[in-house]
Amino acid sequence: MTNTNCWVTIPENSDFSIHNIPFGIFSDKNAAKRVAIAIGDHILDLSKVADTGLFDPLNIDKSVFTNTYLNAFIDLGKSKTNAVRNLIQKELCNDTSVLKEHPSVLIPQKDATLHLPVFIRDYTDFYSSIEHATNVGTMFRDPDKALMPNWKHLPVGYHGRASSITVSGHDVHRPMGQTMPPNAENPIYGPSKRVDFELEMGFIIGKNTALGNTLSTSNAENYIFGKVLLNDWSARDVQKWEYVPLGPFLAKSFASHISPWIVTMEALDPFRVPGPNQDPAVLPYLEFSGDKNFDINLEVAIQPENKEETVVSNSNFKYMYWNMAQQLTHHTMNGCNINVGDMMASGTISGKSKDSYGSMLELTWGGKNPVTLKDGSERKFIDDNDTVIIRGYSKKGDIRVGFGEVRAKILPVKSN
Ligand code: MN
Repeated sequence: MTNTNCWVTIPENSDFSIHNIPFGIFSDKNAAKRVAIAIGDHILDLSKVADTGLFDPLNIDKSVFTNTYLNAFIDLGKSKTNAVRNLIQKELCNDTSVLKEHPSVLIPQKDATLHLPVFIRDYTDFYSSIEHATNVGTMFRDPDKALMPNWKHLPVGYHGRASSITVSGHDVHRPMGQTMPPNAENPIYGPSKRVDFELEMGFIIGKNTALGNTLSTSNAENYIFGKVLLNDWSARDVQKWEYVPLGPFLAKSFASHISPWIVTMEALDPFRVPGPNQDPAVLPYLEFSGDKNFDINLEVAIQPENKEETVVSNSNFKYMYWNMAQQLTHHTMNGCNINVGDMMASGTISGKSKDSYGSMLELTWGGKNPVTLKDGSERKFIDDNDTVIIRGYSKKGDIRVGFGEVRAKILPVKSN
């Protein structure tokens, strides 16, 4: 199966190749929110596909395709959701497909509005890039003790805020906050002066666990439906003052953005790679076998208002020290239950080289070395009316599987 033998036109280098088939929620001028997949520059309306009878042999309740979120669809389980994905893949390359008799199942992406794909009840953010944790520890604390003593023994994380997670394209206002200015004696209240992005990926839980049950590194991936790009917006001046001793709070909760299409674990399977060596050895419950890191190219661009964008970071998901199976195993080891649609995020994904750092905090080293954009302007952090765009894709031979993008603009402080 290749892009060129499909009857749907798939542009070369499209993120949404025949190998991808990611799931999302869209609406258009004709209908309310419903389930779709992305293919090339089009989306395929799965509620209309279901009406053709194509899914009848799979014995799926059609109502899952007209829901406003993917949760009910995902909850069918991988045997059903993979069967849908495989069938669509086959039909889009089958010249006698019943879908060709129903041209309205395909809609140009430009005519559709994409929505938050899942209802996210719980959101956890890990801190699993050793380069990022080392950089931040060096700046916020002590270069000689940048990593806390626990860091190489467990995937550190915190419970984030799910209510303010939104989808690409929804702009966000600069947050107000309490900060302690350098050399000041008292804190002040005002607009954050250090709004930053965090280049991250999130994974979406595909299967519930019961309270009290635990997962292992060998079965944890069965509980992951797929992945999205994530910008975990961070107000660094607020964070620096508030984070002691319980970790991030309002510096992170004002907004997080995800990409609209969930790329399945099955689509990412060809891009498995070994992860970094874990030394010292992890405790037995965190040991794993097989390749559990993924080679996913990531980039971040900043686009000032009405100007050309500048790519400021090139990173890769394969750099992660702790993999998703370890994160999820650790998350459930105390019996805490997980639910379909929950999101777990990687933490900022930085590489070793300075141009692979996943935040402005690291790229400008705390604001000391500003980044110069193509229009000649300089950035220490994100200015009002700047748009931040994160993109990601995997490629191996002729197989390309991409995530599209997550973009959002920082608007000035909201006047109430
Ligand atoms: Mn984060």
